[in-house]
Amino acid sequence: MSLKILDTCVNCDVCEPACPNKAISLGEEFYVIDPDLCTECVGHHDEPQCVVVCPVECIITDPENIESIEQLDLKYQHLMAKESAA
Ligand code: SF4
Ligand code: SF4
Repeated sequence: MSLKILDTCVNCDVCEPACPNKAISLGEEFYVIDPDLCTECVGHHDEPQCVVVCPVECIITDPENIESIEQLDLKYQHLMAKESAA
């Protein structure tokens, strides 16, 4: 699953640096998560770091981006391969 930030985000900037995949950026009105980069922290941490640090609990599992652990791990492997090729 990739995660999604709700419009209750208060733009506190805390989650962006916590993301190991650089999947979080400031959108037009509040922070957003790129589903192509979010592995739900699989490969890096036991739990989603953005959820851990968010003070207003506005980050949820995106019902439109449900992925299995295997798919998330594959995405992680692809991201790592891209990073080492860069
Ligand atoms: S779950 Fe992990 S990879 Fe996904 S946006 Fe949050 S911190 Fe980044
Ligand atoms: S930590 Fe939560 S409130 Fe702060 S910018 Fe990220 S999503 Fe928004």
